[in-house]
Amino acid sequence: MNNAIFDFTKPENEPVQTYLPGSNERTLLMEELERQSSQQIEIPLIIGGKEIKTGNTANVVMPHDHKHILATFHKARKEDVELAIESAMKAKELWMDISWIERASIMYKAADLISKKYRYVLNAATMLGQNKNAYQAEIDAACETIDFLRFNVHFASEIFNNQPGLGENNINRLEYRSLEGFVFTVSPFNFTAIASNLNTSVVMMGNTTVWKPATTSLLSSYYLMKIFKEAGMPDGVINFVPGSGAMIGDIVLHHRDLAGIHFTGSTATFNHLWKTVGNNVANYKSYPKLVGETGGKDFIFAHNSADPIELATAIVSGAFEYQGQKCSAASRAYIPKSIFEETKKHIIEKVAAMKIGDVADLDNFINAVIDESSFDNIMSYIKYANESADAEIIAGGNGDKSKGYFIEPTLILTTDPHFKTMEEEIFGPVMTLYVYEDDKFDETLELCDSTSPYALTGSIFARDKYAIVKACKALRYAAGNFYYNDKPSGAMVGQQPFGGARGSGTNDKAGSSLNLLRWVSPRTIKETLISPTDFKYGYMVD
Ligand code: NAD
Repeated sequence: MNNAIFDFTKPENEPVQTYLPGSNERTLLMEELERQSSQQIEIPLIIGGKEIKTGNTANVVMPHDHKHILATFHKARKEDVELAIESAMKAKELWMDISWIERASIMYKAADLISKKYRYVLNAATMLGQNKNAYQAEIDAACETIDFLRFNVHFASEIFNNQPGLGENNINRLEYRSLEGFVFTVSPFNFTAIASNLNTSVVMMGNTTVWKPATTSLLSSYYLMKIFKEAGMPDGVINFVPGSGAMIGDIVLHHRDLAGIHFTGSTATFNHLWKTVGNNVANYKSYPKLVGETGGKDFIFAHNSADPIELATAIVSGAFEYQGQKCSAASRAYIPKSIFEETKKHIIEKVAAMKIGDVADLDNFINAVIDESSFDNIMSYIKYANESADAEIIAGGNGDKSKGYFIEPTLILTTDPHFKTMEEEIFGPVMTLYVYEDDKFDETLELCDSTSPYALTGSIFARDKYAIVKACKALRYAAGNFYYNDKPSGAMVGQQPFGGARGSGTNDKAGSSLNLLRWVSPRTIKETLISPTDFKYGYMVD
């Protein structure tokens, strides 16, 4: 019998590879891009470990060359969704009962497989399918996925170690049970690491999942499933169900055994899931745990003591990395008048130096946005700004979807702090700047706090410490991840637990034990050592 006590100390973050010209990793990545570009794979459903081909298919294409088909995928039918739930429920019986160390070793093996054997496979799939450049794919598909897998083991060990004390005549324990039922995991297109973690954080705690992946990230999601299997994940622990979100969601959300939802995506979709659960609440066995990380309208706020070139760099990196398709992407900035002209000069220079194009040309900083509906939506905001008297486009503003869904990094300057593009999430390479009078710092902080329904990330740029402290206080509820003198994106597992409140989600902090705690339902066990034999209180003499 294995009675060892394991102590999983905090791991190191996975080192980021550089892909410098002439480097071995660059050669291997280019070869893998070539290999994946010259084949067309078939993506089945994977339920209970079995591949299912429904025959109802659609294509996965390259966003930068949308006639190029990378894969065809099979869409789930109603009976497949029902089978996935059944399979998750069945797999759970064994999965929840094995020692957590056995689950931990699968997480570690998956991390090692991604770190070594499949790094370029997963990075190339993320580049071609989701249109990330090499660096963005490396920090997401490789590093963050690996970090989540390894750190979650450490977080789980912290949770399991947290036990109540002994009593005078009793021994107490907390048994961290997995949830009673199955968990519905729903992933967005924009992060391979999130797709992985939505499932693996949940299964680390002994649960099983029905996973609805985003259609536009199916290539990397499918490779994740293959890696999990090779790492030893038993059949049925994660059930992979591509297809229509509305159809799949409808069946899953009305199931009596739904124990939780682990969601990342837009606020509108999460609101729909929450409402459906609310309407059905009397029909579940337990109250489902609802964990959702949703949209953002992330800001950079500058004080007049900020350094203009540092500020300009944060604005362009924060807004335009991965074409602004990060939930944490900066999309509004507040700049004091006295430093605006200099900041603007640096911003315009930097934007002009950003090359746009194919992900396989590593000199391109900007690639395509994810699909046509996203392209049309982003361009509609640019058109709106173009036609408005309250705004002026000072860089970019053009898009072309003839071959790929390309949009220039675009800067809007507005005189209206409530201009539409200051308030709504656009999820594209569009940044809106608002200039305020230097002596209106306090009022503009209030404006920033109250402008948007979201509260995900934000930054303050200042050299004056008192200004930083004031902003931090005034913007306490405006962001769940707040940065001093940095862009508001790029959170790392184990360093900056991630998530926001208000319209940005339930703030259950992915990349920390707080998230894993949501996937257990603790049972307290009290053992009385010598059981009483009399019911009377001590002061009762007779
Ligand atoms: P989305 O809401 O369109 O889709 C997310 C997932 O929900 C997809 O898999 C989709 O198929 C599924 N879905 C849609 N309708 C459904 C339904 N009725 N039932 C069940 N599933 C359904 O989001 P997206 O476009 O993939 O991702 C972009 C959004 O995600 C942005 O709003 C972004 O801010 C947000 N996001 C947030 C975070 C965060 O940590 N806060 C991280 C990444 C992305």
